[in-house]
Amino acid sequence: MPQAPVVIIGSGIIGLAHAITAREAGFAVMLFERDARALGASVRNFGTLWPIGCEFGPERDQALLGVQRWKEVAARAGIWTKTQGSLSLAYREEAWAVLHQFAARHPVFELLEAPEVRHRFPASNPENLRGALYSPHETVVHPPSAIPALAGHAESLGVELHFATQVVRVHDDAVETSDGRSFRFDRLVIAAGEEMRLLFPAELAEARVQKCRLQMMRTVPQPEGFDLGAILVSDLTLCHYPAFRDCPGTEALRKRLESELPGHHQWGVHVIAAQHHDGTLTLGDSHEYGNDLPPESRPEVDELILGALRDFVQLPDPRIASRWQGTYLKSMIGQTQVVLHPRERVTMVTAMGGLGMTLGWGLAEKTIASWNA
Ligand SMILES: Cc1cc2nc3c(=O)[nH]c(=O)nc-3n(C[C@H](O)[C@H](O)[C@H](O)COP(=O)(O)OP(=O)(O)OC[C@H]3O[C@@H](n4cnc5c(N)ncnc54)[C@H](O)[C@@H]3O)c2cc1C
Repeated sequence: MPQAPVVIIGSGIIGLAHAITAREAGFAVMLFERDARALGASVRNFGTLWPIGCEFGPERDQALLGVQRWKEVAARAGIWTKTQGSLSLAYREEAWAVLHQFAARHPVFELLEAPEVRHRFPASNPENLRGALYSPHETVVHPPSAIPALAGHAESLGVELHFATQVVRVHDDAVETSDGRSFRFDRLVIAAGEEMRLLFPAELAEARVQKCRLQMMRTVPQPEGFDLGAILVSDLTLCHYPAFRDCPGTEALRKRLESELPGHHQWGVHVIAAQHHDGTLTLGDSHEYGNDLPPESRPEVDELILGALRDFVQLPDPRIASRWQGTYLKSMIGQTQVVLHPRERVTMVTAMGGLGMTLGWGLAEKTIASWNA
């Protein structure tokens, strides 16, 4: 009997990165997606590949590899990407101090005084600006088009795709789908995103992961010729990502932001602005934790996001074209990625939090390397 294939559950970035990497390594691969197309976090995010948010060391290396893999695969699959770097703008003295401390860690980061920022990035708001840090690696993709295109690319490599097919049970060496069929596997990768009640719920509960819901928006296309110049963030973002945690000044900045912006603190608002090939900008976000959140979006949270945005970006056309929510699982004990092995030959990749687009490819390489070891 021929060897059973690698089976992947989920057609988000984590499932697709595993499917493509496994196929490239010569495995037969079958992928199951419960919906007719990917509708999870992978099509709802900013599309920012974000090494600057990752802790220095192996995680940052994994993120840089993620950027490289996205670009390689995207070039082959005809997917738009743009490496334009990120600009972290400092408006408070404390934020400027954090950026100095951060810049000292690696010569690749460039500290820019306010006049130079204004000259190079005319969309930034000059009022009260102290300076900024430019980092060259950060890259943008357009998730709603990139993820389906990636699935098409996986299929062209020979991955067998089963959309609108939910996996409802995992047996010792086979998965069972909701239509009663059974598919054998040699290895199984579960990349089911926010789903935590169907497949190995006890193991997920024990791993201490929780849902986090985010509010997001997209602007109308900006006028022809407008270029944001980089992915833009400011003071609030410096307190959000693990990379800045070790800077001695981060605590003072956090305290000041908490007292000046209590609403932002309450809803976990920090703001990213990323521009895509069609001229639109993706904007967000907020963070609300809990496994049974109410369905309503919070208009007041959108207002907090837009208010904070105006403090650092001047858009020619700030009209909002669409709003949505996204959900991911997050580790409650501070892990950036949670990999479980609930059974032999079963890998469950979950709780990539806000960095799954960035870290997914590196994680897939690790998973597949562990099979060959
Ligand atoms: C609003 C928002 C902004 C973000 N911004 C960024 C960012 O800019 N940069 C970054 O690096 N990361 C970002 N992230 C994080 C990133 O989007 C996620 O970490 C990543 O998309 C998770 O990918 P996934 O494949 O695990 O999950 P998903 O994309 O949710 O995919 C899981 C898939 O599994 C399917 N599925 C579930 N159960 C089954 C089953 N039983 N059978 C078959 N199929 C099943 C689901 O239908 C779904 O399509 C953001 C996340 C959100 C929500």
